[in-house]
Amino acid sequence: MKEQKKSMRDLVEEMSSVLCPKCEGKCRHIYSNTATWKSNPGQVSGRAMTEDVCDACWGTGLTTKTGWNLRKQSRINHLTRRLLKSHNTNVSEKIAFSMEEDLELRELLGVKPGKE
Ligand SMILES: [Zn+2]
Repeated sequence: MKEQKKSMRDLVEEMSSVLCPKCEGKCRHIYSNTATWKSNPGQVSGRAMTEDVCDACWGTGLTTKTGWNLRKQSRINHLTRRLLKSHNTNVSEKIAFSMEEDLELRELLGVKPGKE
């Protein structure tokens, strides 16, 4: 295999083009509140600046490949817990799982509505 010769300048240019612009390749970001990437509109959270995984690259530091989307996974987990509670055989612990929640979970999982 022929080794490709690159100048240090070429390498720096190449690397800077793939580094995540939000965290500059550090994989972590300082958020303006304690909720960090879990922040939602209207949510109450602490005011302290808090470091957590970068929500643009999800921890890879790159624009070319992102890590697992924790915000999406967190939502899937929440909806799945609610779905399981809606099937609880103990009636006093049973909750309603709305059509909107059903559609959102299916979309997040990439599952089309089908026969039950
Ligand atoms: Zn990043």
